[in-house]
Amino acid sequence: MTAEIIDGKQIALDIRAEVKDETTRLIDRGVTPGLATVLVGDDPASAVYVRSKRKACADAGIKAWDHDLAASTPQRDLLDLLSDLNGDDAVHGILVQLPLPEHIDEQAVLEAVSPEKDADGFHPTNLGRLLSGRRLVAPATPAGIQELLLRANIETSGAEVVVVGRSNIVGKPLAALLMQKGPGANATVTVCHTGTRDLAGHTKKADILVAAIGRAHAITGPMVKPGATVIDVGINRTDDGLVGDVDFESAAEVAGAITPVPGGVGPMTIAMLLRNTVALASRTLD
Ligand code: NAP
Repeated sequence: MTAEIIDGKQIALDIRAEVKDETTRLIDRGVTPGLATVLVGDDPASAVYVRSKRKACADAGIKAWDHDLAASTPQRDLLDLLSDLNGDDAVHGILVQLPLPEHIDEQAVLEAVSPEKDADGFHPTNLGRLLSGRRLVAPATPAGIQELLLRANIETSGAEVVVVGRSNIVGKPLAALLMQKGPGANATVTVCHTGTRDLAGHTKKADILVAAIGRAHAITGPMVKPGATVIDVGINRTDDGLVGDVDFESAAEVAGAITPVPGGVGPMTIAMLLRNTVALASRTLD
């Protein structure tokens, strides 16, 4: 293997320590950052994610309000809860764990969270702010990827970045982040998806290749430019355990740097959620 491993786990721990320091400063000034997490239903993976987010809050000194609702909860009740949380001054961030049960309109729920308390950065107002270069909070996974690149000293300015995947939670906001002017950005971004002709033709040109596809081992060594940085967002449950969207063995022979799964992007998502919450809390002092 030739590639350097980008240690997302350690970088996330560093950020969580910084968040804890910032939380302490805020508490000294009379504001205890608070995050309300809302879990609807009993999807096992969602329950695991929410549990680790709540634990991470406790570790960072952030007050957590846990709302666990039955899968049959009517949309109206969920919207009423969000309205209460929007009006509660002690709550600075609100996170609704996705996916939601089928009878609930996900977009309506995301839009019901106040943009000023939008810890996940999914509200259209915050996505619009991001796109227009006036970021308030960015979705946690793309923000975490940008932070990984910054802290691993991977040059993004002028780089050819290829993002494979155009979801609203990863691919699209990541493209919007990396195309902005400024540090950790200023890249030339290409977004690929199932409509892309000749995927490998694009990926082989990437200085920074991001796989956010949701298919185990979809990106292989021959699709990677020698020396490129490969960021694997994928979390796929297989018979061999958790694997990414990148075939690590073959890609690591060609890449200059690569994130592992687990221990790459995943821990960054939680760290950035905490950072978003503290950023929203600190605005209440302005
Ligand atoms: P998603 O909503 O399913 O989107 C997948 C994207 O990949 C779509 O845009 C799809 O294209 C594209 N795609 C699928 N197959 C493709 C192919 N053969 N060639 C080119 N493009 C292809 O997934 P997501 O929510 O973005 O998540 C992606 C992965 O990241 C999943 O494994 C998820 O579990 C993981 N994830 C990890 C974290 C973390 O914290 N590490 C956070 C979020 C997600 P179309 O649009 O054309 O269908």
